[in-house]
Amino acid sequence: MTECLLPEVMYFCLVSIGDFGKGYGILMNQQRKGRVKHVPQRTCIACRQVAGKRALIRLVRTEHGVVVDPTGKQAGRGAYLHPERACWEVVVKGNRLEQALRTKLSADNRQELLAFAQTLPEAEAFRTPAPEQDDQERAAFADGSA
Ligand SMILES: [Zn+2]
Repeated sequence: MTECLLPEVMYFCLVSIGDFGKGYGILMNQQRKGRVKHVPQRTCIACRQVAGKRALIRLVRTEHGVVVDPTGKQAGRGAYLHPERACWEVVVKGNRLEQALRTKLSADNRQELLAFAQTLPEAEAFRTPAPEQDDQERAAFADGSA
């Protein structure tokens, strides 16, 4: 390759090859360690069901109150909720969100979060129907406390 004959370019070529080798090594390691992809699990603070992080909406405590964190990366104490109206209403109207985030919701903040909840679909849309048991019973079994 004629481009690699200049010393600077040659150096660049070597670095590129080095980086590629490293990347390839990491890729191989990941494949060797196991095929199961690690999905971070989080618990909805309303219904206590565990779900993949991406299946839940993160709320974060900021100095301006509790806000929705669409990126899931905003700094601050966070809590997770299903994208379901029912889960939001139970924790926003009660004090469970405040407990989880160790904060007090202002009346305005509470209204904002309830307004956001109104944009979310009802629970049924996201759940596989589970006959007989209601959410609380299922949560109790999942805890192993039964
Ligand atoms: Zn939930």
